[in-house]
Amino acid sequence: MTPLEALDRVVHCLDRVHDTGFKAKAFVRAREVAHELAPDELEERARNGTLTDLTGIGPASARVITEALKDGTSSYVAKLEAETAVPITPEGEHYRAALRGDCHLHSTWSDGGATIEAMAATAIALGHEYMVLTDHSARLTIAHGLNRERLIQQLGVIAVLNDELAPFRILTGMEVDINLDGTLDLDDDLLAHLDVVVASVHSKLRMDSFEMTPRMLKAVASPHVDILGHCTGRLIGKRDPSVFDADRVFAACAASGTAVEINSRPERLDPPFELLERAIAAGCWFSIDSDAHATGQLEWQPHGCDRAAEVGVPIERIVNTMPATELLAWTTSAA
Ligand SMILES: [Zn+2]
Ligand SMILES: [Zn+2]
Repeated sequence: MTPLEALDRVVHCLDRVHDTGFKAKAFVRAREVAHELAPDELEERARNGTLTDLTGIGPASARVITEALKDGTSSYVAKLEAETAVPITPEGEHYRAALRGDCHLHSTWSDGGATIEAMAATAIALGHEYMVLTDHSARLTIAHGLNRERLIQQLGVIAVLNDELAPFRILTGMEVDINLDGTLDLDDDLLAHLDVVVASVHSKLRMDSFEMTPRMLKAVASPHVDILGHCTGRLIGKRDPSVFDADRVFAACAASGTAVEINSRPERLDPPFELLERAIAAGCWFSIDSDAHATGQLEWQPHGCDRAAEVGVPIERIVNTMPATELLAWTTSAA
C-alpha cells in the first residue's frame, strides 16, 4: 500500500460508515494535499518529520503516510478497516451474492465526491460486473446537475473508460428529476439513448397526494424510465415520506416494467417496509441500489439486501441480479 492508497482507503472506510465529521473532512483534505505533492517530497518530509508543516496534513494523516512509506501497511488503516466493515445478515448475504451490479450512483460530475474512475475501481473490487452512472439532471442545480451538453461530454468519457475497463462495464444513465407535472428533466432523444434511466422526485416533496400521485404515475409510465428512485423521498428522522397512492403507482410500475428502487442509503432506506410489501404484492420489479456519492458508499447495498430479505422480495424480480446484457434487454423490452 502506497501512502496515497492508504489515505484513499481511510477516506473510503469513513465513507462507508457515513462519517462526515471533522476527522473525515481532515482526511479528504490531507488526501488532496498528498496527491498534489511530488512523491520525493512526500518521502523526504516523512523522513524529516515535516509532513505536518503542510497546510491540510495533521498528525493522523502524517502517521498514515509515514507508516505506509515504512512497510507498506498502516496499523491505523487496519484498525479502521475492522471498525467500519458494513454488517449484513445471512439472509441479506443471499441477496448480496446474487447482485451483479449497481444501478444508481454518482460521481464528481454532479454531487459525488469521487471520480468515475474511482467509483468504477471500487465497483470492480466489490465484484460487480457493471455499474450504471446516474449523475443528477440539470434541474438539481445544488447538486451540479448535468445539462444536455455535459451529459453528452460524459458519454464520451464513459466510452473511453469502457475500453480500458472491459469486461467491466459502465452503463450510461442519469438520475433524472421528475418535474412538478410528471415530465422528465431531460430531452427525449437523450433519455432514449441512455442505457438505464432512474427517475426521482427531488422537489415539492410535500405535495398533496392528489398532485403527487398523477405526477409519479406519469413519470413511471414513461417508456424511458427504468427505475423509480427512492420513491417516498423520506430522510429518516428528518423528513417524512411523501404521500401518494402507492397501490396505483406500484400497479403502474408493474404494468410499464419500471423497477421500484430499494435505496440502501442509511438515511433513506426507501421504500419503508409497508410500501415494499405493497410493491411486492403489485408484482413490481426491484433494483437494490447504493445511491453512492463516494466510493465507500458503494458498500451500502447490504442495507437494501437485508430489507429485501426481511420482507421476502423475490430474487428473480431484482433487475441488478441480471448480467449487463440481460439488464439492457430488460430495459428495452419491459412494457
Ligand atoms: Zn435522488
Ligand atoms: Zn441519487
